[in-house]
Formats: sequence, structure tokens, C-alpha cells
Amino acid sequence: MAKISINLSTGSIQQDEMIVGIDLGTTNSLIAIIHPQTKNAVALKEHNQHTLVPSIIHFGNNGQIDIGEAAKPYLESDSVNTIFSIKRLMGKSYADVKTDEHYLGYKIIDDNSDKLVKIQVADKFYSPIELSSFILAELKSRAEHILKTPVTKAVITVPAYFNDAQRQATRDAGKLAGLDVLRIINEPTAASLAYGIDKKNQEAKKIAVYDLGGGTFDITILQLDSGIFEVLSTNGNTYLGGDDFDRLIVDFFIKILQEHKITITNGTKQTLRLLAEQAKKHLSANDNFSAIFQDIHLAITKTEFENLAKPLLQKTMLSCAKALQDAGLQVSDIEEVVMVGGSTRMPMVKNAVTDFFKTTIDDSLNPDEVVALGAAWQADVLAGNNQEILLLDVTPLSLGIETMGGLMDVLIPRNSKIPSGAARQYTTHADGQTKMTITVYQGERDLVIDNRKLAEFIFDGIPGMPAGLPKVEISFRLNADGILNVKAKELRSGVEQIMQVQPQYGLTDAEVEEMLMASMLNAKADMQLRSLVEARTEAEQIIFATKNFMQKHQEMITAEEIVATKNAIDNLQNIVALDDKNAIHHAIEHLNNISRPYAERLMDTAVSSALSGKKI
Ligand code: ADP
Ligand code: MG
Repeated sequence: MAKISINLSTGSIQQDEMIVGIDLGTTNSLIAIIHPQTKNAVALKEHNQHTLVPSIIHFGNNGQIDIGEAAKPYLESDSVNTIFSIKRLMGKSYADVKTDEHYLGYKIIDDNSDKLVKIQVADKFYSPIELSSFILAELKSRAEHILKTPVTKAVITVPAYFNDAQRQATRDAGKLAGLDVLRIINEPTAASLAYGIDKKNQEAKKIAVYDLGGGTFDITILQLDSGIFEVLSTNGNTYLGGDDFDRLIVDFFIKILQEHKITITNGTKQTLRLLAEQAKKHLSANDNFSAIFQDIHLAITKTEFENLAKPLLQKTMLSCAKALQDAGLQVSDIEEVVMVGGSTRMPMVKNAVTDFFKTTIDDSLNPDEVVALGAAWQADVLAGNNQEILLLDVTPLSLGIETMGGLMDVLIPRNSKIPSGAARQYTTHADGQTKMTITVYQGERDLVIDNRKLAEFIFDGIPGMPAGLPKVEISFRLNADGILNVKAKELRSGVEQIMQVQPQYGLTDAEVEEMLMASMLNAKADMQLRSLVEARTEAEQIIFATKNFMQKHQEMITAEEIVATKNAIDNLQNIVALDDKNAIHHAIEHLNNISRPYAERLMDTAVSSALSGKKI
């Protein structure tokens, strides 16, 4: 049990160890705890502040970084240096987000491969993990300020549809922010926990979680059985949210202004957008909204707004129907409906959902806080404060394999339920490579040399192919007895090999604790080293692929292009030796810009396919 003390001068509560719950949202993020005295979940806020921290980061030209409310004005005035919706980029490659680019005002780097995206702000390059870590670090420091105690452990929520890479990216962001992420849980599950659905009775039941946020809509059908939540289906729209409702009002106002012969500039539109959000929120509790804008009376009634918004609502109901269908269920099978997201404050949303599910909905909790509150409940369970809930067996340390540059690639993160499994694809780095050494490690550090080596085997019999072509799937299965089965399979040929290890063998609790401590103490340095190693590996691969490509297509590349490419390669090679990942990314960008035109001209698939997949 954590010890509690009260600061007599301020009356604030001090606790030795507080595990917090964090909702890292696309639009807003927040942090919640179980109040040590009231034993209730509360979202944290400072005096006169909101619980919600807008998920926005502004980079000033003097090195100053603003996060949250303070960064919001720059969305309009300095959009290239203002990062929002970073959650959309988590664990994504450029190919995944190409279509989203027009929507984001900042620069995403296209390196013509399926590697993870980078964001360029002035002369620096950031990964979505780093950017998310800024938001998490801000939440952490706010919480520490309020609680007057260090906050180092957290439960973070993610959408139910997040894949393994997106979840891992979220974990890494936490780590980089100095947080030990004890568990990643699904947002709909968190919301259900906040409503105490798991405590109501022990019978199995089905739950629908309707989440309409700022930019996204998710519907999740969950099954709760013996305290365990299982996702039956998910549906939704990653470009449908409160922003779209705002836009309807902006257009409505623009019509009025145009009738008065007012010219609409970009500046007008931006001010209108803020006014529209204000109008929308006002109409959630009132029948009319009016304001004076440039001497014109702008007004909209709730009925007018609701008529405009009908098609948006219908889209969400269509998703609900699809989610039910995918889960093989009927409306009558759903016992509970949980409302999540600030946009569900609109009465028309509540009505539509009630009509669809033909049931009354409990909306007693703040819809924009409910996910964080649920994460706090989960954190409380992990802290051992909630004895009624059965704690499942978990694996105490992460399990993974070594990838190029000596990096640890985690397949089963620590605190995963046992039994558990995961699989990921890798490829070769040399032409005609028929063997691959698979080395299995355990631990939390980013470089494998700092972790515990469990086993090594040589996977051979890979049919000779050009580098990057073989698809080697490594799968981990950790069974209920804690035995790890590692399987390597080349998917094109079907060749496979299996090995068994016992991760916990010969490891004491004290040793596990020591390993965890070391990982927390070195988290920041480790992550920095990882991004440097990743940048170097990327540079080496690009140099290799470019040289290869030039050699194969010599006759089709101009003399100037060859000279420019060679210079860019030399430059990159010199810079790789330095410890500066930003400089390396710059040099990679430079080389890419030179080779892109002829690569595209010739056969764009060759280079990009040779570069795809992590190499062992
Ligand atoms: P996310 O999960 O995407 O981070 P939130 O759940 O915080 O987002 O929801 C943010 C959205 O909720 C914004 O579009 C905001 O305008 C909207 N919102 C907040 N309060 C209200 C309200 N009272 N009425 C209507 N919309 C609201
Ligand atoms: Mg949300």
C-alpha cells in the first residue's frame, strides 16, 4: 500500500507512489487519479485551469516550446511550427498517412519507404513518439505540481483499433517522458471501468461504447465476462468529429456574412471557426446562439444546427449498425451504452444514440474525462489498492529480439497478460542471404547489450533472394506456464524453425526489480541512443540501396545525377560518424531528394521495396 501524508501548509495530499491514468487524445489529453481520501476517480487540474490539455505543441523560434492551451493560438498564426493531431501519426509510415497530409499544417517527411514518419519543424526532425512524449511530459509535470509528489507510473489509453506498432509507440512515448507505462488499455474499456460496469454484477454482458471526439468517431462493441473485457468489433471514422460540426456553423455564418456583402478572408474564417465552436457548445445547453461579428448580427438556433448536422449523425449510426453486424449481434443484445468524447454533450447525439440502441444511457460522468477516469481505476488495481479484482498473471519483463544496430525490438511488452502472443515481420539486409541469427532478449533497455540474453538460434534455409524481399515472420507465444516458444517462418517459401525458452528461469524478483530500475534511470539516454542508432541504420540502408540502384541502372542516370548522388553519399557517410541524429536525417533527406527523381523515373518500386521491413 502506498503511504499518504498531507502537506499542512497547503493542505495538499502527498503520496509516496501514485499511479496515474492518462488519456492521450487526438484533440485533448488529461490525467486522472483515484483520490486517496474519497476513493473516487478525479481528473487533475490546477486552480482556474481546465482538466483538458489540448494535444497541441508549438515550437517558437527562440527554442521555447508551448504545450496545451498556450499552443492553441499558434494553430492559426504559426501553423508550420504547431503540431496537432499527432496521435494520427503514431506508429505510422509515410505511406499510411499520405492521404492525411493535406489536413495537417506541418511538414511530414516523405522518405519514399514504409518506414515510420518523421515531422520536420525548422531544422529539427521529430518522431511522433517524441512529440507525444512532450504532451505526456507536460501532463506529468502538471500532475507533480498538483500532487506535490513525483509521478513515474502510468496507465495510458489507446483506441481499441490501435495495432501493435501504435501501442508500442505509445509505450515508448511514455518512457521518453519519464513514465513507466504499466499498462496500455483500450479507451472503450477504460470508459466502461469509469462507469463501474465491471462491478455491477458478474454475468457476462455486451457493451457499446460510442466515442465522438474532436476529430474522430469510434464505436466499439465489448464483451465483459468474468472481469475480462474483450473487443468484439470496432467501427468508426477517423475523419468525423466535433471539428466537422464546427465547420457546419462556420459555413452557416459565412452565408449570412456574404448576404451582407462581407468579403471572407482566411483570417475571417479562422476567427469564425473559434466562434463556431463556442456557438456549438452554447447550443448544447441553450436554444439560440447569437453574436456580433464585424457589425453583423450572427445567429443560429439549435433547430437550425441540428438540421445541418443530421447527415453527420446518420454516418455515426451507420457505423454503429456495421459494428453490431460485425459482432454478430442485434441491438437487443447490448445491455449498456457508454458515451465518450466531448461531442456527445450535444443533446442530438444523446437522442440519436438512445433511439438507435433503444435504451437509456447513463451520462453522469464528464464524457471528455471518462477515459482518463477509467485509466485511473485500472492504475489503482495495478497499485494493489483494489483487492476485489482478480489480478491476472503477467510477464514482468519485456521479451523481444535483436535488430540491426543492436536494438531491442519488443514483441511481448512487460505486464502483458499470460498467455500471450505476438508476431512481426523482418527481412534480410544482404542479397542472397540464406541465414539469419535470431537472438531473444528480455528486459526494458533499448540496446540489447543492456538486456538479458535468453537464447540464440540460426534460422537457415531462407531461399536466396535480393535483400529486403524475404518475409521472415518471428512469432512469440508465451504460454500459461511461462514458457516462450519462438518461431521463425519465411512466408514466401514456408520454411520454419521453432525454439523454446524459459524466460523466468534463474531470475529472482530482486533482479527483475533491478532491471526495471535501470531502465527507468536510463530511459532518456536510451531513447536518444535508439533514435541515433535508427538514423544510422537508415542511413546505411539508404547508402547501400542507392549504390546498388545506381550500379544496376548506370546507363539510365545522367552524369550530373551520378556526381550529385556520390557527393550526397560521401556527405552522409561523414555525418553518420557524428552523434547527431538531426544532421543524419538532414543528409538522408538531401540524398533522397537527389535520387528520388531518377528512382521514380526508372522503377520506383525497386528502391522502396529494397528498403522495406526491419532488418535483422
Ligand atoms: P479527443 O478524444 O478527440 O481528444 P474530446 O473527447 O476531448 O476529443 O472532444 C473534443 C470535442 O468535444 C471538440 O470538438 C469540442 O468542441 C467538443 N465539445 C466539448 N464540449 C462540448 C459541448 N458542450 N458541446 C458540444 N461539443 C463539445
Ligand atoms: Mg478521446
